Amino acid sequence: MVAWLAACNGNDGESATTSAPVPDSTVTLQELEAGTCNPVMFERQNPGFTGPGYINTPNTIVARASWSIDSPLGGPHVLALRFANGGATARSGELSVNERTVQVPLPPTGDWANWDTVSLDVVLAPGRNSLELRASTGDGLANIDSLTVTGPGPLPGACGEEAPADPSATVDVRFLSDEPAGWVTQGNGVSGGGDQAPVVVTRMDELQKLASGSEPAVIHVSGELNGTLTVGSNKTIIGLPGARIRSDAGVLQVSDARNVIIRNLELVGVNARGQVNTVLHNAENVWLDHNTFIDGSPDILLLSGTTDLVTISWNVFRHSYFGHEHMGVNIGAADDDLESRGRLRTTLHHNFYAGLVNERMPRVRFGKVHTFNNLCLAGTDELTRSYYAVRAGVDANVRSERNIYRDFHGPSWWWTSEKLGAENATVFNYARSNDNAVLESIEDVCVPDCVRGPVDIAEHEGVTGKAGFYGTGSAFEPPYAYSAEPTDGLEARIREGAGAR
Ligand code: CA
Ligand code: CA
Repeated sequence: MVAWLAACNGNDGESATTSAPVPDSTVTLQELEAGTCNPVMFERQNPGFTGPGYINTPNTIVARASWSIDSPLGGPHVLALRFANGGATARSGELSVNERTVQVPLPPTGDWANWDTVSLDVVLAPGRNSLELRASTGDGLANIDSLTVTGPGPLPGACGEEAPADPSATVDVRFLSDEPAGWVTQGNGVSGGGDQAPVVVTRMDELQKLASGSEPAVIHVSGELNGTLTVGSNKTIIGLPGARIRSDAGVLQVSDARNVIIRNLELVGVNARGQVNTVLHNAENVWLDHNTFIDGSPDILLLSGTTDLVTISWNVFRHSYFGHEHMGVNIGAADDDLESRGRLRTTLHHNFYAGLVNERMPRVRFGKVHTFNNLCLAGTDELTRSYYAVRAGVDANVRSERNIYRDFHGPSWWWTSEKLGAENATVFNYARSNDNAVLESIEDVCVPDCVRGPVDIAEHEGVTGKAGFYGTGSAFEPPYAYSAEPTDGLEARIREGAGAR
């Protein structure tokens, strides 16, 4: 492989000494890691895989898997695709690489636990290369464990195109003068660090030190910080424009603490199992406002234990990957978590569930949860259809008011319909409910329309339920003043206004 660059240098009259040949190197792209792009449906069921698991596509002709590779020089590369096919016939595909296509034979390997490797010669362009493997048959692709790339210095590339920020644009952070609303205003209310002088931090150790304990502090975060942040009582943490905290082991924890305000931060986690992005555990009077939460598994946000009096406003929740463990906001950790009973009172307003959130917008146990003026998107791609938006679980009392539920129509995600018997994507879901669960829908809208129901779903693990766009029972009356705005024009306002700046 090193001969390729040397040959080029030899032909153009330049001295070969100005750029030494780049030795070949190898990078392996795994699902849920950089370079493997969405939509990715992954599993861990059949042994013998490497990395976090493997990709199991739906058994359909539109099944696909995609990758992004950065090549400093371009030129010939060798790809090794590791796969298993326990079916009786080939589940081959066609790989497109920069407008060229390569046939990829994926014959039976005898068992889903028998893994084989197919080697492919491709030519990459200098810079970013997008690769897409599309199924050739109605059985979808074989299960795919990894893609190994060998050549002159390949690296995992970024997936999707993020618009570069316009440095001349002014950042409008007038929302920082807004006051909190909803449940967080009840009880002792929320003031965070109060009128303490703000301290600007640029390093994680500085931030963690100031955020610990219960001394009042107002902290302004600047730049990109790495690590898990644990926040104590009486804190206000505000991101300056562009501030980001990134961690592969959970990003934010508010545990055994009260009176906490977190605003304008981008919080970037990973979609590795058990790495919830943000956890509020035994936390009281917490306000999460105008943050952008990216990735976390199984949920982006979990409220658990004796957590109570929380307002979650104007945040963006999104995933880089899609699948069963790519859910949204889970209020209540387990049916037998009885310390949550009578707690978990939460208001969610003007949040944007912006993409690839499969379900839980939110899912509720025990709590009196008021969700109003949110924008919940289902996937529109055949492979990324959501399961449901809001689930009323055990003892839930949900007031869903003037929300926009977009694209909850048509078939559910293939995995959901195959494994849970839920053939339709629905707004509300009453599986795993009980007789005490209440969900009242007040002037919510479906855009364009949605499955009205009730439809039966065959929930797994012996639990069945119903789903559709209908309420059951009368929800609590909020004790606080609030104003749910009309849904006309709301979608644009949320898209424009939600998230960190
Ligand atoms: Ca499959
Ligand atoms: Ca793998």
